[in-house]
Amino acid sequence: MNWKKEIELNLKYPFSLDNKSGPAYLKIAAPSSITAGFTLRPGGFSHGSFASANMSFQVGDQEALVTKNRRALLDGAGPDLFPALVTARQVHGNRCLTIVDSDPEKLGQIALTDADALLTDQPGILLGVMTADCLPLIMIDQEQRAVAVVHVGWRGLDQSIGVAAVTGLKRDFAVDVENLQVFAGPAIGSCCFQVGIEVVDRFRRHPLLEGTDDWYQERTSGYYIDLLSIQRAQLLAAGVAEKNFHQVDICTFCNDFCFSYRRDHAITGRQLAFVGIKGKNN
Ligand SMILES: [Zn+2]
Repeated sequence: MNWKKEIELNLKYPFSLDNKSGPAYLKIAAPSSITAGFTLRPGGFSHGSFASANMSFQVGDQEALVTKNRRALLDGAGPDLFPALVTARQVHGNRCLTIVDSDPEKLGQIALTDADALLTDQPGILLGVMTADCLPLIMIDQEQRAVAVVHVGWRGLDQSIGVAAVTGLKRDFAVDVENLQVFAGPAIGSCCFQVGIEVVDRFRRHPLLEGTDDWYQERTSGYYIDLLSIQRAQLLAAGVAEKNFHQVDICTFCNDFCFSYRRDHAITGRQLAFVGIKGKNN
C-alpha cells in the first residue's frame, strides 16, 4: 500500500493529510487564526538518510536543503504570516520557555536555549519541536489564543514536561485548562518502544501509575512502554478534558513515511511539530 493510502486509512478528524506542496504534514483542524500540524518524511528536498523533508540542522544534513525544506513549509502556511520558525535546543528536560517578545534578535537566541516546550500568545511566531520517535504535543487554547508545542521523550515524560506546559499556559496566559485542546503526533508506539527494566521501574514510582499495568508490556524480547498512554493519563489528571485530547496513532518505527531514530540507527532526519497564531497579514 502506498503511504498516502496508509495514512488516510488511519487518520480521523481533527487530522488530515496535506501534501499539496512542500513537506507533507498532518494538518490539525484549528480556528482560522491558527496554523498547526506534524510534518512527515515525504515532500522535501533532502537526500539519503535525510530524505526527504528533514527539518533539523543538527543531524548532519546539508544546511541549504534543511533551509529549503523549512522555507517550503512556511511558504505553504503563507509567506507573510510566519517570517521565521522558532525552535529551542531540546535536552529531554522539563523546561518550558514562554515567548512574549517577537523581536527577531531575541527569537534567534532561542535556538541556543535549552527547553523542551515553547509557549506563546504572539501572532506571527511559528513554534516548533523536532522529533524522530519522541512524542510531539501541540496545545491550542481557543479562548485566549495562546499555543504551545512540546517535545516528550521518556525522560521528559518522567519529569512531566507536558503538564509543565499546561501549568505554563495557565500561569502566563490565564488559559482555562478546560478549553485547552491537545494534539499528540506520530511517535514510537508501544509496539516498538523497548526499554530497560529501570525505565519501567521509574514510571512505576509515579503516583498516577501506581497499581496500574496497562502502560507497559513484558514480552520475551523485553519491556515495552506506551509513551502516549502515560502522557494522556498525566494530562487528563492535570485537567485536560478527555474530549480535547486527540492522538494520531501513527508509530514512527513501523511506518517509513516517518523518521525513526531507532529504526534508522540514529542516522536520520527529524519531523517538525509546529503551531502558530497567524500574523497581521492574515
Ligand atoms: Zn511500531
